[in-house]
Amino acid sequence: MSLARFAVSHAKLDRKVFEAMLKTAAYAAAHARAPLAPFTIERREPRPHDVLIEILYCGICHSDIHQVRDEWGGGIFPMVPGHEIAGKVVRMGDKVQKWNLGDIVGVGCFVDSCRECEACKAGEEQYCERGLVLTYNGYERDGKTPTYGGYSTRITVDENYVLRMPERIPLERAAPLLCAGITTYSPLRHFGVKAGDNVAVVGLGGLGHMAVKLAKAIGAHVTVLSHSPTKREEAVRLGAADFISTADESFKKNAERFDFILDTASAPHDYNAYLSLLRRDRTMVLVGLPPPTPLSAHALVSRRRRLTGSNIGGIRETQELLDFCGSKNVGAEVEVIPIQKVNEAYERVDRSDVRYRFVIDLASLKKTGTGQN
Ligand code: NAP
Ligand code: ZN
Ligand code: ZN
Repeated sequence: MSLARFAVSHAKLDRKVFEAMLKTAAYAAAHARAPLAPFTIERREPRPHDVLIEILYCGICHSDIHQVRDEWGGGIFPMVPGHEIAGKVVRMGDKVQKWNLGDIVGVGCFVDSCRECEACKAGEEQYCERGLVLTYNGYERDGKTPTYGGYSTRITVDENYVLRMPERIPLERAAPLLCAGITTYSPLRHFGVKAGDNVAVVGLGGLGHMAVKLAKAIGAHVTVLSHSPTKREEAVRLGAADFISTADESFKKNAERFDFILDTASAPHDYNAYLSLLRRDRTMVLVGLPPPTPLSAHALVSRRRRLTGSNIGGIRETQELLDFCGSKNVGAEVEVIPIQKVNEAYERVDRSDVRYRFVIDLASLKKTGTGQN
């Protein structure tokens, strides 16, 4: 072989190796309502400001289930869900300032934003006016490269959209803080919930159990409103002072009892009945995203109550939450599963049978040899 031909074939080989290194094992839904199954995706080589993260754990959020089933519409398939990603920095671009190889880091619900709008400048990237880049079921800023989430063995992310995980909390218990934790922490902080307030948490699932722990850590008096009467003892174990079963209509007798209600329920329920439990001039925040649900003006007007919503949290606030959880030793209650059990886990979440977050151990995906690591 001539030297020139050798050089060409070698270059081809190099490129092959280079590309193969970015092939990444994942689990995806091929179309709406399809079960999750092994799939191979490509991750980009780190650009100057990127880090490549080996994913160790990824939580299962109910939003993953809503989106895989295209319940919110506009789903991009094949879809690799997962936005509670915890792992290790294994490679990085030459201009990265914030991270070192081996750092234990996290990625939440978004991986980029416009960085210029009022929301981004205020550190509230989750409300980016020009297009938040969701961790999955979205497109990169080029508008055409689909994003894939954490049900995979690695991810490449701009260093500014990466979080430092708390050292004190086992990583599998810290991963759910990246969505369930920040989504409940942000409204508690934004609406100034303080020690001694009477706070009600609707729904004791992934978000709800974090809301109980965080409101309790702030010093609030927490009551759980649950449609699962069997969760009473666990609610108390998690830090609730009281538990009200909404399976029993008599829960409506608790009118004008609460200073703040954080509603995390994932399925339709009567907002009006819950609003009547608020005191005058107090606030109920929706974070759960069920299908459209009727609202009566009377429930608001009669006591000048406020009904609002809240979307995850910005990077700065998410780091604040992670540091807060580290200092207070607050982690999620988790059931760690291999990725092969993900469809079963979805069915259990459907039945509100999760205590209280499923977390995928990505070592299970590396072992299968279903993709190149
Ligand atoms: P999850 O673990 O499934 O918990 C949802 C809880 O809702 C269940 O455990 C259950 O609690 C309650 N629930 C279920 N069906 C109900 C019904 N028919 N009536 C009343 N309550 C019912 O889900 P998650 O991961 O915590 O997510 C909760 C919701 O928040 C989802 O809609 C998700 O998409 C949304 N979310 C929003 C944001 C945001 O930024 N706003 C972020 C993440 C997730 P009980 O058994 O105690 O009643
Ligand atoms: Zn989520
Ligand atoms: Zn923006």
